[in-house]
Formats: sequence, C-alpha cells, structure tokens
Amino acid sequence: MKHRVEKKNVLEWSVHSLTEGENKFHLSLKPEDIGIDIITRNKMIESDINLKRNGSEILLEGEVKFSLDLDCSRCFKQFTLNKNEKIYAYFIKRKPSVNAENKDLSEKNVKAEYYENDTINISPVLSDTINLSLPIKPLCRNDCKGLCPFCGVDLNNNQCNCKKEKMDPRWEPLKKLMKNK
Ligand SMILES: [Zn+2]
Ligand SMILES: [Zn+2]
Repeated sequence: MKHRVEKKNVLEWSVHSLTEGENKFHLSLKPEDIGIDIITRNKMIESDINLKRNGSEILLEGEVKFSLDLDCSRCFKQFTLNKNEKIYAYFIKRKPSVNAENKDLSEKNVKAEYYENDTINISPVLSDTINLSLPIKPLCRNDCKGLCPFCGVDLNNNQCNCKKEKMDPRWEPLKKLMKNK
C-alpha cells in the first residue's frame, strides 16, 4: 500500500499526511529550488531525508550530496569539491498561546524550526547546511603551493629561481654581522 503524501512543492510537507514514525524521501534538487547561488557540476543536489513524526513534532535527519566547481584561492585553478553533509532539524508547531521558545532543546542539540498551518518547509535547513559547508578560502588541495609571487609560475607544476635568490629572513642579522667583520 503506497502512502499518499500531500505536498505543495518538492520541499514542503503537510504534517498530518506524514505517517507517525519514519518517512523517507529522496530529493534531486537544483540550486535554484533551494534558493542558493552555487554552481553545481552538471549534477543535481541529491538528498536523502527521513522525517520522523511524533504527533506535531518532526525530527528531520538526512544528508545532502553535491559537487561544486570552485577556483583555488592560491593557484586560481578550477577544481571540483565533492560534499556530503549531514542535516538535522526539529520542527515544532508554533502555538499562538504558548511561548514555544522556552522549550528546552539543548539535549537534542538540533536547531528548532517553527512551522504554522500544518506545513513544514525544509528549504531553509538545506540552504543553511549547504551555505555553511562552503569553504571561505577554497583550496584545490590542502598543500597547494600556489603561484610564485615574483614570477607567477604555478609552483605545483613548476620550479622557479625566485625563491632561491631570497634568503630566509631569519639569517639576515647573521649576514649583517658577517659583513661588518
Ligand atoms: Zn591550488
Ligand atoms: Zn618565481
């Protein structure tokens, strides 16, 4: 028997139509579906999620996988970054009379998302997870040598003589000392 789930769009669920307990879904999304400005490498953002319903509360657990084309901040070459991030959120129905902010969620260690009108939307959780996982200084690899600041060759593939001519600055005092003698 196939359970019929009422959906308004690909990222929204009607809470009453979810089964008590686990509800598993696979989503193939474009960045614009989640409202994020990233360039995925000819591929979709793939996400496996489990919406665990307990009455009006829903625990979202899952993961999101995507590949990005980025420019290395040291050597400026384009490279592909593959990401696989965990997603968690806890959806609580907002009741007008009760101050739901007081609910203690510290034990669960997940962010609470408040929903209204029987509809949960996981779009903000997905976009936050993806945005927070993006590197501020992307590197093609952790030990990227970058470009020579003097002649501009890519030090990952080439050698240049600029470095050899420059002495380690820690030896400068010694050099002066030797000159004075
Ligand atoms: Zn690099
Ligand atoms: Zn050089």
